Amino acid sequence: MRILLVEDDAMIGKTLQQALQQDGYAVDWATDGQAARLALDTAGDVYALVLLDLGLPRKSGLELLKEIRRAGNKVRVLIVTARDAVADRVAGLDAGGDDYLTKPFSLDELLARMRALLRRDVAREDNVLRHRTLALDTAARTLTHAGRSIDLSAREFALLAALLERPGAALSKAQLEERIYRWGEEVESNAVEVHVHHLRKKLGADTIRTIRGVGYALA
Ligand code: CA
Repeated sequence: MRILLVEDDAMIGKTLQQALQQDGYAVDWATDGQAARLALDTAGDVYALVLLDLGLPRKSGLELLKEIRRAGNKVRVLIVTARDAVADRVAGLDAGGDDYLTKPFSLDELLARMRALLRRDVAREDNVLRHRTLALDTAARTLTHAGRSIDLSAREFALLAALLERPGAALSKAQLEERIYRWGEEVESNAVEVHVHHLRKKLGADTIRTIRGVGYALA
């Protein structure tokens, strides 16, 4: 799952990017409000979530939030900021933020709130994406297939999660790449095919269908 981290503090940004990547997210990191706006305008719908600091150079987080909401962008936004005054919190939520977390926070709480927001997208009550015999738990990061537990690499997990979020819909190779790799990451041209190949070996050849000229979909 790909997310946009908007944070101007180099230390916090780096720490968060690493921690979130360890948890399986592909994390693009923008260090000012303009860069974040550009990323949101150009990357379209690839971001499942935005983690937004409010005090930012070049464009404040609040301004950015108001702008993208006015432009019709409905991406989930979790405001993460040191400002803990009630007025700031209210302004952030009124401007279109979906939730609010005050620094300093525990990583566990951040991850739990992210999962809660991601669930809200599809009105799920738990963290499990299900399709037929597959059940992928995004909190525990486990997959069971017909009751059997299956080990997945981080990329295989991300790719399968992307397909499970829209069962029945086909995703192109480019769309899958966008969802599992962050900016500047080197991607082998056949990376998606390789992950699909490994997933089919683990889950059965007919689990993921190839749709000619389009991409991949769950069976
Ligand atoms: Ca800041």
